[in-house]
Amino acid sequence: MASPADSGGFETCAHCGARLSGSAWFPATTRGDGESFAVLSFCDGDCLTAWRER
Ligand SMILES: [Zn+2]
Repeated sequence: MASPADSGGFETCAHCGARLSGSAWFPATTRGDGESFAVLSFCDGDCLTAWRER
């Protein structure tokens, strides 16, 4: 399940996959496994919470 968000052209919610408008701020978190590092964005706090609890 690769994330296209790294391309920088647009972002999608890391939890539900909804496309996010670039003109607003969305909740985000970072994830690193020691070698790679990614910034994940979410529609809202509910998706962020759901992703963290998964
Ligand atoms: Zn979402």
